[in-house]
Amino acid sequence: MNLFSLRRSPPSLDDLVMDASLPSKDNSLSSEYLMPGIERPKQVFVRGQGSWLWDSDDRAYLDFSQGGGANSLGHSPSVLVNAITAQAQSLINPGFGLHNRGMLKLAERLCASTGSDQAYLLNTGSEACEAAIKLARKWGQQHRGGASRIIVANNGNHGRSLATMSASDSSTLANRFEPQLPGFSHVPFNDLPALHAAVDERTVAIMLEPIQSEAGVIPATAHYLKGVERLCRELGILLIFDEVQTGIGRCGTLLAEQSFGVTADIVVLGKGLGGGVPLAALLARGKACCFEPGEMTGTHHGNALMTAAGLSVLDTVQDKAFLKHVAEAGQHLREGLGRLAHRYGHGELRGQGLLWGLTLSDDSADAVVKAALYEGLLLNAPQPDCLRFTPALNVSNANIDEMLLRLARAFSRVRTAQLQCRKGIAV
Ligand code: PLP
Repeated sequence: MNLFSLRRSPPSLDDLVMDASLPSKDNSLSSEYLMPGIERPKQVFVRGQGSWLWDSDDRAYLDFSQGGGANSLGHSPSVLVNAITAQAQSLINPGFGLHNRGMLKLAERLCASTGSDQAYLLNTGSEACEAAIKLARKWGQQHRGGASRIIVANNGNHGRSLATMSASDSSTLANRFEPQLPGFSHVPFNDLPALHAAVDERTVAIMLEPIQSEAGVIPATAHYLKGVERLCRELGILLIFDEVQTGIGRCGTLLAEQSFGVTADIVVLGKGLGGGVPLAALLARGKACCFEPGEMTGTHHGNALMTAAGLSVLDTVQDKAFLKHVAEAGQHLREGLGRLAHRYGHGELRGQGLLWGLTLSDDSADAVVKAALYEGLLLNAPQPDCLRFTPALNVSNANIDEMLLRLARAFSRVRTAQLQCRKGIAV
C-alpha cells in the first residue's frame, strides 16, 4: 500500500486563507437571486461612519478601499448626509429636461475650480468616458475632416461599457463580448515615441489616466505627460485625461493634471465627485466645447439629488487645508507601507496623495485581501501581485496606523498559509 496516497492533497493558498473567512450569524439574506457580477465576500454591510464599516453581525472593518475611492469623504459624512437630506426634502428630480439649482451651480463650480469652460453631469465614470469619446469624435467631425480614432494606453481602464471596454485593456477579462467597438489604437504607457508613431490623419485624440489605477497604480512620468501635451498641441489633436480615479483631491491636488503641470482639453471625473452617490462629470476647455443641443442626454444627467451631493463634496475638498491634509496623510501612509513592505520583503510602492499601490513579492494579493478581511480590514487588489489603498481623503493618522497593524497581521497570516502549503499541511 502506498502510504503517500493516503495523505490528503496539499491545500491551496486560497483554501487556507478562505478558511479564515468568518461565518455570519445572519443567514436571513442570500445572493441567490443576484445575477453574478464580481465575487463578493459573504458579509452584508449595514452601517458606515468615516473610515469604518459594520456588517450585519456588528463586526467593524477599517475601510481602505472606500468603494474603490468613490467615498472621498468616508462613510456617511455629515456634510453629504445634510446636503442630500435637505435636497430630498425640497426636490429630488425635476427631470433631465429641466434646470435645477444643483446642476447649474455644480457645473459653474467645476468650471471655475478647474479652469474649464463647460461641464456636463452624468452618473458613472464609464458613461462620462464614453461622453468624452463622443465629444472628441464630434470635434473630429468639425475640425479634423471626420477623424475619429483615439489613442489609448496599454493596461488602461476607462470602464466596462462596450465603448470604454474597447478603449481599455480588456485582455484579462473573462468575456470581452466581441465584437469590440473600433476606433482605438493601443500603445505602451509612458512611451512617447510609440505614441508619436501611432498618430496619423485618422487620430482625433489621446486619452490617458495620469495614474493607471487598475493596472496597479502606475503613474505617468511628468516628462511623458508634458510630451503628450506638447504633441497634441503640435499635431492639433485633443488631449483627454480620465481623472475618474485621480481627480477630486485623490492625488493631493483637485485634479492630478495640476500636479504634473499639464492641461488637457477634456477631463473626465467620477468616483470621488459624488462622495458615494453616482455622479460623474465631463469637463471641456476652449475649442473642445463643441456639443450642440440634442447630442447628449440621459434620464439622470444632472439629477438634483446627486448634484447636491457633488456640491457638498466640492465645498469640502476645495479647502486648501483639506488638500494639505491629503498630502500629509498620504505621506504618512506611504512611509508606513514602505516600512511594512520592507519587513515582509514586498516590492515597489507607487502613487501619490491617497492613491497607493503596493507590489507584492508574489501573486498573493487576493489571499492578502481575504486575510485582511478576516483582520477587519477592507482592501482591494487590482492585479494578482498588487494591493491598492484608496482610503477616505479625511482619514486620520491613527486610522492609518491601525490599518498598518491589521495589514501586518494579514501578511503574517498569508505567510503562514504559504508555509503550510509548501509543507503540504492541511488545516
Ligand atoms: N476610468 C477610470 C480611471 C476608472 O478607474 C474607472 C473605474 O474604476 C472608470 C473609468 C469607470 O468608472 P465607473 O465604474 O464609475 O463606470
